[in-house]
Amino acid sequence: MSSSLSFESISQRFGTEQVLDDITLTVPESSCVALLGASGSGKSTLLRIAAGLLDPTAGTVLIDGEDVTALDAEHRESGLMFQRPLLFPHLSVVDNVAFAARMAGRPKAEARRQAREYLELVQLGEFARRMPGELSGGQEQRVALARALARQPRILLLDEPFSSLDLRLREDMYDLIDSIREQLRPTIVLVTHDRREAAVLADTIAVLDHGRILQHAPVAQIHHQPASPAVNRILGGLN
Ligand code: ADP
Ligand code: MG
Repeated sequence: MSSSLSFESISQRFGTEQVLDDITLTVPESSCVALLGASGSGKSTLLRIAAGLLDPTAGTVLIDGEDVTALDAEHRESGLMFQRPLLFPHLSVVDNVAFAARMAGRPKAEARRQAREYLELVQLGEFARRMPGELSGGQEQRVALARALARQPRILLLDEPFSSLDLRLREDMYDLIDSIREQLRPTIVLVTHDRREAAVLADTIAVLDHGRILQHAPVAQIHHQPASPAVNRILGGLN
């Protein structure tokens, strides 16, 4: 579940708007990078490009050194998690997770076995037969995480996955991500506008501003040696 991910000179235009401007960034295998920036800075766009949901205007995406720029989302083998979980309401929890494993090409029995395994991992083993409507918001997000993991993705892509949760539930999710990192060692790109979340969860922080990376450095370094007043402002002024 761990591959390296590199963006090389990625640019994205929508009409006349330059949303990403020459992004070069490498995420080593099993590490977690936080893309930190204000709303509209281009974080989700870069994540969609990583996932293969969007073709960049220019530049290259590499997974394990292989050019995957032309590869669509299905063949990219990434696991995506969004702010809202978007579970299928008519499928049980275990079926929601098994469906993702099926979509990733697992045979039926194995998909179900894996679904149960990942539900255990997110501490929802007892909720397997429940329907999504019977879950709390925090539980729904855990199912969404199990679903992303059940694809056994090469890269785990998380787009502000905890921003709808209250502080206590968010703290629980941070612990869960820590334990998943220990057990599965996935490569993670975490999009967030919360500098504390970035500092708690990530190894490195890439600060995005108007589609450019202002600085990418280990968490401690970026806090002690921000490269510019703009980085300092984003690290200090987002919450
Ligand atoms: P963030 O996730 O950092 O809030 P986004 O990547 O969602 O930022 O958006 C960056 C900019 O790109 C915004 O100005 C947004 O309006 C624009 N944008 C994103 N997707 C599209 C699209 N499909 N078409 C046109 N503009 C878009
Ligand atoms: Mg976004």
